[in-house]
Amino acid sequence: MSDEKDATRVVQAGRRPEWTQGIVSPPVWRASTILYDSVAELRARGAADTHHKLFYGRRGTPTQWSLADALTELEPGAEATLLYPSGVAAVAAALLAVLEPGDELLLADSVYDPTRSLAGGLLKRFGIATTFYDPLIGAGIADLCTDRTKAIFLESPGSLTFEVQDIPAIVAVAKARGITTLLDNTWATPLLLPAIGMGVDYSILACTKYVVGHSDVMLGSVTAAQGQYDRLRATTYQLGQTASPDDAWLGARGLRTMAVRLDQHGRSALKIAEWLRTRPEVARVLHPALPDCPGHEAFVRDFRGASGLFSFVLRGGSDAARAALIDGLRHFGIGYSWGGFESLAIPVDPQRFRTVTRWEAEGPVVRLQIGLEDADDLIDDLEAGLARFAGARG
Ligand SMILES: *Cc1c(COP(=O)(O)O)cnc(C)c1O
Repeated sequence: MSDEKDATRVVQAGRRPEWTQGIVSPPVWRASTILYDSVAELRARGAADTHHKLFYGRRGTPTQWSLADALTELEPGAEATLLYPSGVAAVAAALLAVLEPGDELLLADSVYDPTRSLAGGLLKRFGIATTFYDPLIGAGIADLCTDRTKAIFLESPGSLTFEVQDIPAIVAVAKARGITTLLDNTWATPLLLPAIGMGVDYSILACTKYVVGHSDVMLGSVTAAQGQYDRLRATTYQLGQTASPDDAWLGARGLRTMAVRLDQHGRSALKIAEWLRTRPEVARVLHPALPDCPGHEAFVRDFRGASGLFSFVLRGGSDAARAALIDGLRHFGIGYSWGGFESLAIPVDPQRFRTVTRWEAEGPVVRLQIGLEDADDLIDDLEAGLARFAGARG
């Protein structure tokens, strides 16, 4: 399928005749018990890999397999995908699949905060040590690798601050040392960054965001490169992780429009980012497609486009002045998550989540998720917000 363009692939992916039975979208197959014809058949099934075989509800039905296959097909070079009840569950399962007590993990300092909490909590408790690294370290990551380093976790661009990592350089260092690489690919999705094709071993998505696309389902996925699937499957089965067929079905419904949505999110977000950049109240815009974003050259080289999430740094002003900006917005909701059809604005304070890098700003930071509203309406809204900010800043 990899010769087709993205919009064609997201429409067709995962719609195998076995899963659809002639229906356009595979229906919701709900199950716990699966009935067998005989004791012999019951014994024969379920010995090992039951992905794609009806065995027991926890191992999925054609509804989940169809979405999982679709995500695999979007990552050329991938072996298989498993689904999880959230993005955080997907991150946790992938890390637990590749790490053992005594191992060391290298974690980007710009990583999503719950991933950081997992490293400092459960992983630490199980004897796995984490070393944080500068997301812009590139090939310099070799200096941090020891003979205990078993995994490098990347997230590009970084949560809140949007540094773009040099994925090929880090993958090359990892491959030379037999270290596993995992990438949180939620911002770009495989459409804007086919990570497995770049040599990453596990590509992780919070499907909650762009795959679902409608702010109404929690869902995660891990796509494994060739040869990396078996240990992910074993750990996932042991953890009892599964995504509900109803949620998977909503994820598959979202996926069919992901290419057009991403295109629109990306275009509007870039327009708004460029406009913000001209505003005197704004010190900096943190958007990977803008030349002043750290790692912009890697973005241009590796990504096929930008999605709809970015931040901007205000010039001076207090937390209260930032709240005056956000509280009065008409078209932006105030809430966590992103990737839905509606715009969101939240205050973010990246410096609180840094271990080895300092993150300094000229003022408070706002993160925007640009939805599918008209970009000019959003600009008018933000213009009024910046006026409130300037008034409150004095
Ligand atoms: C939201 C998010 C997650 C977690 O996904 P949930 O489905 O909310 O658990 C992981 N990584 C990134 C980058 C995210 O933005």
